[in-house]
Amino acid sequence: MFEKVLIANRGDVALRIHRACREMGIRTVAVHSTADADAMHVRLADESVCIGPPASKDSYLNIPAILSAATVTGADAIHPGVGFLSENADFAEIVEAHGFVFIGPSPQHIRDMGDKIIAKRTVKALGIPCVPGSDGPVESVEAARANAEEIGYPVLIKATAGGGGRGMKIAHNPDEVAEAYTMARREAGAAFGNDEVYMERYLAKPRHIEVQIVGDGKGHVVHLGERDCSLQRRHQKVLEEAPSPALNAVARAKIGEIAASACAKMNYRSLGTLEFLYENGEFFFIEMNTRLQVEHPITEMITGIDLVREQIQIASGAPLSFKQEDIALNGHSIECRINAENARTFLPSPGKVTDYHAPGGLGVRVDSALYAGYQIPPYYDSLVAKLIVHGSNRNECLLRLRRALEEIVIANVETTVPLHLDLSKAPDFINGEYDIHWLEKVFLAD
Ligand code: ADP
Repeated sequence: MFEKVLIANRGDVALRIHRACREMGIRTVAVHSTADADAMHVRLADESVCIGPPASKDSYLNIPAILSAATVTGADAIHPGVGFLSENADFAEIVEAHGFVFIGPSPQHIRDMGDKIIAKRTVKALGIPCVPGSDGPVESVEAARANAEEIGYPVLIKATAGGGGRGMKIAHNPDEVAEAYTMARREAGAAFGNDEVYMERYLAKPRHIEVQIVGDGKGHVVHLGERDCSLQRRHQKVLEEAPSPALNAVARAKIGEIAASACAKMNYRSLGTLEFLYENGEFFFIEMNTRLQVEHPITEMITGIDLVREQIQIASGAPLSFKQEDIALNGHSIECRINAENARTFLPSPGKVTDYHAPGGLGVRVDSALYAGYQIPPYYDSLVAKLIVHGSNRNECLLRLRRALEEIVIANVETTVPLHLDLSKAPDFINGEYDIHWLEKVFLAD
């Protein structure tokens, strides 16, 4: 096993990885920007190295600085966390070329799945159903219109290199195609440095259901059930639950087996998530994420498996610590993404957290790097805490969620706690009757 792991991330994710390492007897190295000198992950790690100024491109995305930090501290392995360099195949390759272990999938899998056209082709060939769409890149407005005629309106124009819901535009008719196409390309170019786009049928009322898998890189893959991430704003997840209220045991086992078997054929290593849209009882693959996900705790809560620990063990060459038949889903779990934002306008609210109180009690978990006196810097993502609750069934979980949200105190900055509290009382949510559009079009429209 590794003696020392460098955590190339910040915030609650860095803390999450530190905690797993600590419990495994592995020493940790935190890296941080000058803006994060007082961050909790820096305080708790065994060692820390400042890797640059506040802007992410100069610090958390600064590959030479991160590798230097790993060298000077004598780390054996690097965990990329979530976001930042976690899906950068070049980074994974460079880490390995410098003699460190990359805690994640093979660079080739990261590269292939990071290109959504290659990803769809790859999984389709392995028997996974995909959203109907263009078979490859769409290179002109005329080609986009021709594709749309075949696919059927409305259509979605999406960035091949997409992520975070950017570079995605809807067209309802041929007139709208030109603008949607141009806008999607421009947004993709600006966000990803790659303006290639492809097209899909725009599904009217799907749910977003994703399957967690874990593989050893030698053809053994286990699926750990699904997460329902349909509650979204601007194609970004707001609250997630597991299991999905929309699936029964038969549908769950079927999609899990399809996902695991495809990943086994790829000899996939480490954690992975296959994302699907689910409509009228049918699954359609949209993309695969080759990393730990923000919403991984709800899977941990219902399976009892520490996913980060498993990820580190696999990276060290150990076999999977369980077989498919060992996996049993227990109860229900919900995660709320608590952002330092106004709960109605969603404008960021950085600043000093003058008081902080985390809720507790049976079945309540908070993954957060907050503390009283912490200054939330304005340079990064606004996620400041994940509140995760577990109950023996969905109803108990909902009641627990409500009372935990009532207990949490994050003083002096605006947060999305009031949004989650309202959501936890909304009849459609309580009944499990929502699709990917409900939060924006119904709940927030009121
Ligand atoms: P990103 O990588 O930018 O997150 P995804 O392909 O994962 O993009 O899609 C993000 C979200 O956008 C989905 O969860 C869903 O809400 C919506 N979406 C994506 N593709 C479609 C589609 N074909 N029809 C309807 N909604 C879609």
